[in-house]
Amino acid sequence: MRKIADCRDYPSEMNCTLTIAGEEQEVVRAAAEHAASVHGHADSPELREEIRKLLKDEVPQHA
Ligand SMILES: [Zn+2]
Repeated sequence: MRKIADCRDYPSEMNCTLTIAGEEQEVVRAAAEHAASVHGHADSPELREEIRKLLKDEVPQHA
């Protein structure tokens, strides 16, 4: 099961629409780096824990 971090779910004044999907540890790392580089957050264990809490399960796509 892949996880999704959707930047629209995070409080931001930038109207960022980035979505990151992948294994949980990949998403948390990528989202933390994105939050630091784009949104100016400090990349910390606390930030990563917040991101982990907001991850959603990817909904399988059935054609
Ligand atoms: Zn963003």
